[in-house]
Amino acid sequence: MSSITRREFIKISSVAGAATAFAAACASAPEAPPEEAPIAEPAEQEPKEPVRMALLMDNSLCVNCQSCRLACQNENNLPVNERYIRFDYVDTGSFPNVQHHVNRHSCQHCNTAPCVEVCPVDALYKGAEGFTHTEFETCIGCGACLSVCPFEVPVISQEPETGAPKMYKCNACKHLIVDGGVPACATTCITDAVDYGPWDEMLKKAEDRVAALRQRYPDAAVYGETQQNGLGLLLVLRTPAEDYPHLV
Ligand code: SF4
Ligand code: SF4
Ligand code: SF4
Repeated sequence: MSSITRREFIKISSVAGAATAFAAACASAPEAPPEEAPIAEPAEQEPKEPVRMALLMDNSLCVNCQSCRLACQNENNLPVNERYIRFDYVDTGSFPNVQHHVNRHSCQHCNTAPCVEVCPVDALYKGAEGFTHTEFETCIGCGACLSVCPFEVPVISQEPETGAPKMYKCNACKHLIVDGGVPACATTCITDAVDYGPWDEMLKKAEDRVAALRQRYPDAAVYGETQQNGLGLLLVLRTPAEDYPHLV
């Protein structure tokens, strides 16, 4: 067994001591701060698909009080002699079993809208929610839209301030619905005959109403599911569409 000198012993001891001190120092050293996680970029929002909306007119609930028509004139600042909502009245049966029926006559907001196709100045266009809107300032009152509308809706009349011919028709209260609001006629109806919501929901509601109505009115029907590739104004009718002068 080899022996070591005092000098060698001191050298070994001091190296070992330094190593121990270094280890101790490492053990007591404050931990390095954890690496900060990078701040996540906010996920890009997928643009939402616009939901197809509809007005629903349940004519079986209408008591013809004209509240919707007046609210519409007020909301859209119409001259007192202009209106976007009119009514057709129909009597069916024979005395003494006569029934009186009413149907709202206003823009049906055709999904395939011939008025949009013919307007020479693009004053009519389809909005994201499926309604047919009018750029009133752009309209030149030529009447081309009136000549192709299957429901005889547009009315050409003089604008009171300028005397210029303009086309008047329901624009689905674009200024309200664009911010998620509800058209004035739907918020005003005293019997909830007018409703507004996603097209599918309105169609289902109309079908449920018709199912209930058929116990008393066997010819009750939903109007607007297929006409013009689907209408933005759905109707609940108590009698066949052929009974009404402006339905096709
Ligand atoms: S009902 Fe007449 S005015 Fe309304 S969208 Fe249809 S074609 Fe145009
Ligand atoms: S009346 Fe107005 S909205 Fe109708 S087709 Fe002429 S310019 Fe277009
Ligand atoms: S949706 Fe607006 S513009 Fe159209 S009939 Fe109703 S209140 Fe009038």
